[in-house]
Formats: sequence, C-alpha cells, structure tokens
Amino acid sequence: PRYLAADDRYESMTYRRSGRSGLALPALSLGLWHNFGDVNPFDNQRAILRRAFDLGITHFDLANNYGPPYGSAEENFGRHLARDLRPYRDELVISSKAGYDMWPGPYGDGGSRKYLLSSLDQSLARMGLDYVDIFYSHRFDPTVPLEETMGALHTAVVSGRALYVGVSNYSPSQTREAAQILADLGTPLLIHQPSYSMFNRHVELPEAGHDDGENLLDVVEDLGIGTIVFSPLQQGLLTDRYLSGEVPADSRAAVGHFLKPTAISETYLERARALNEIAAGRGQSLAQLALSWVLRDERITSALVGASSVAQLENNVAALDAPALTAEEIAAIEPFAVD
Ligand code: NDP
Repeated sequence: PRYLAADDRYESMTYRRSGRSGLALPALSLGLWHNFGDVNPFDNQRAILRRAFDLGITHFDLANNYGPPYGSAEENFGRHLARDLRPYRDELVISSKAGYDMWPGPYGDGGSRKYLLSSLDQSLARMGLDYVDIFYSHRFDPTVPLEETMGALHTAVVSGRALYVGVSNYSPSQTREAAQILADLGTPLLIHQPSYSMFNRHVELPEAGHDDGENLLDVVEDLGIGTIVFSPLQQGLLTDRYLSGEVPADSRAAVGHFLKPTAISETYLERARALNEIAAGRGQSLAQLALSWVLRDERITSALVGASSVAQLENNVAALDAPALTAEEIAAIEPFAVD
C-alpha cells in the first residue's frame, strides 16, 4: 500500500542545531551501515524506514560501501525513496561518504579528489538523487594533501552535488586543519562524525602527541561545528542483546564481521549488567540509558543508531522521553563507562 507519512511526525522528536549552522538534525538519526544490504529482508528495511520517518527521524546516514555487498544499502535506500519517501525529499537529510575501500585500483579508496568525486557520482546514481544533503570524507588520508581532500568536498558543494560537508574519524588537529582549509575555500565544515559511547570515550581524551590538551568535543565546540556520534550502542553491546551471556543467532555478534562473539567477555558482562541495573532504576532499557548518556552533552547534535527491527528503533526513540541524567546518575555510571 502507498505510504503516507504520519501527520504527527514532528510532534515528539527533538531537533538540535549542528554547531552554529542553520541545519537542525533529529536527536536520534538512523544509520544504514548494517541491516539495509541485499542480504537483509527488503520488507523489514522498508518498515524500519517508514517508522523512523513517522517518528520524526529526518536524517538517514549512508556511505558508498554500506551493504553487503558494497553499494547495496544505497541502492536499496534509493528503492525505498522511490516507493515511499520521494514526496518527502525536502523533509529529509541524506548523507553519504567516501574514504574507505570501495572499488579495485588506486582510485577506489582514500582521500583523492579522483576517488571522492567519482564515488559521490556513483552514490547519487545508486540512490536516484540529484544531491545529498551532507557529503563526508569518511577518514583522514595521510598520503593525500588535505587541501586536495577538502577541495573535493568544496567542489561537491559548488557543483550542486551536496548541500553541506562533513568529516568522519578525523583527529582534533586534523579537524582544525580541515575546517580552516574549507573556510578559506568558502565552504563551512558542517559536522564531524566520530564514534562515541559509554564503552568508547576517545572524543573526551586529549590527542596523543599534542600538548594543548584539547579533545575532539572542545575542538568542535570552538569551531562551531556539530557532532553526530556513531555506534552509541557500541554495535549492540550497550543493549539487552547479550546480557544473558549468550550470543543470539540473529545478532550482529553472530552474523557481522565487525563485532565478534569474543566481545561478550566476563568483564563486558559485569559492566553491561551494572549499567543495566542503573537503567532499570530509571525505568529505561540499557540502550535507552546509553542514548541518554551520549546526548547529555549539548555539543552532541545527534546520536546515530542502527536498528535491525522496528521494535529496536521504537525503543531507541523512546529514550528521548526520559528525564535528563542527574549528576548523581552520571557519577554512578562512571566506573562502568570504560573501554
Ligand atoms: P549502534 O551502536 O546503534 O548499534 C546498532 C545495533 O545495536 C543494531 O543493529 C542492533 O543489533 C542493536 N540494537 C539497536 N537498538 C537496539 C535496542 N533498542 N535493543 C537491542 N538491540 C538494539 O550503531 P551502529 O554500529 O549500527 O552504527 C550506526 C550508524 O553509524 C551506522 O549505520 C552508520 O551510519 C554510522 N557509522 C559510521 C561509521 C563511520 O566510520 N563514520 C562507522 C560505523 C557506523 P542487532 O543487529 O544485533 O539486532
């Protein structure tokens, strides 16, 4: 049946401005790294995307190589757009990236102008779009002059293929340099996309080898750029998925390549169960606590989650209804919020 978006889709979601830009993002955004490849049931993908938009999630995050196979998440997203979301294109913020391995040879990986712009053209074709809202350099490439990588992002904007640009996985000093080069070109850096969760706190730590003591969150605040944090649930470790100590057959630890069953260690279980107790004391799931925790810092524009079902997505969005963490709760979490 034809999709009609829910009339009340903007009534409960909260939106945060990305740094000092004009663009607001939902506090919770949906990523298509997993669960949207050709290996994943199309109808489940469709149900998740529809429900997300009905709940006020306006931002969908992709990259050239999401799948598997590479490219298939963008192709599938293009199909869902054509069937369901096309009438709402101007209500959506769609991002893509290039930087990691995509196609064979010297031009299918890294940070060259050659790779970034041809990859962006391929992403647009796969999704059936004229432009993406945000185009990212997916990682810093030390073998390419940063002027070239940022120049390619600038070209993406002036050529009409992207409205805004971002960087992902850049260190604090690389972010400062990237922002300066882009500012000189006249294209502001909109956003940074780092990983961040209760089990992964690198954005709070000063950069090794730099004695200014600045961490990434200080840098983005100072530069006036936004921050969208990926894997806030640590790929599912900060949910109830593994709390029993078992690895469910349909879980990412069982079927994925990035999360291994060995992650379910005794140390992990102790910490996750302790955090789950704190969550229960607030009437929350562990996933909801993990989201409340990353969003406690106003410099975090959005938490970028994945979901393998509509129920997971709904559980995550409901985290936004919870009261903010108190100083006492944050202190109680601290001993267990370690890598
Ligand atoms: P999460 O940490 O949110 O992990 C998502 C997984 O956690 C789901 O697939 C599901 O696992 C499980 N889960 C989610 N919600 C619940 C719930 N309520 N209850 C129980 N289990 C739950 O994020 P991802 O690692 O998926 O990353 C999110 C997005 O971030 C990506 O899609 C991508 O857009 C972006 N990203 C960017 C990177 C970059 O380099 N820039 C790198 C990685 C991600 P299960 O499948 O087991 O059910």
